[in-house]
Amino acid sequence: MATTPSQGDRHPVHAYPLGDALYLNLTSACTLACVFCPKIRDRDFVVGGFDLRLVHPPGVEQVWDAVRAVGLEGRSEVVFTGFGEPTRRLQVLLEITRRLKAAGVRRVRVDTDGLASLREGRDVVPELALAGVDALSVSVNAPDAVTYARVCPNPYGERAWSAVCEFVRAAARTFPDVAASCVGMPGLSRDACERLVLSLGARFRWRPYDRLGRVDDEAPSGPRSDS
Ligand code: SF4
Repeated sequence: MATTPSQGDRHPVHAYPLGDALYLNLTSACTLACVFCPKIRDRDFVVGGFDLRLVHPPGVEQVWDAVRAVGLEGRSEVVFTGFGEPTRRLQVLLEITRRLKAAGVRRVRVDTDGLASLREGRDVVPELALAGVDALSVSVNAPDAVTYARVCPNPYGERAWSAVCEFVRAAARTFPDVAASCVGMPGLSRDACERLVLSLGARFRWRPYDRLGRVDDEAPSGPRSDS
């Protein structure tokens, strides 16, 4: 466990502060290979000076030790995010969330690809709610299935997009704060993305994409952080 910037493989970063929030990094594994992602494009895992590449995903106690080392006092929120999909470590995420809420953390957010229910074969939204998650930020990234499969290549192909949409719908029925975002790739219609997200019941977030292919966002998770 370590909590200082750019420590690489030997000292994996599981928890890191940015601003007044605490960010938790559970895995470097993704279900998607998004074409705009710095990890995919450049093998770049650094956010805010923290190298988020993990060779081994941490267990509950490793993450909790990191949380305690960085500290929870004064944190406005705790966010599961990073250059990997946090729900791929679902049981760790749920247990850490329970501990965070028991410790008095006001807001726990999960930044996600929205594919957990498809991957697990059941609706995981109630499990997130029961554990105490307060908010979700879901990457939708496309107004249709064909575009999604092109922008976010994945093992499920075009049907992944429907699963993400259904996840957002279920989340919006369950959580008071659900954002769904699209990265502003060249040629992508912002209006079409916004119409989709609003029809799913979520708050829309358009995320800028600069000419170097880096997402212009102050928060981590590269492509997926929301606020
Ligand atoms: S954008 Fe997110 S989901 Fe897509 S490859 Fe990068 S870290 Fe994974």
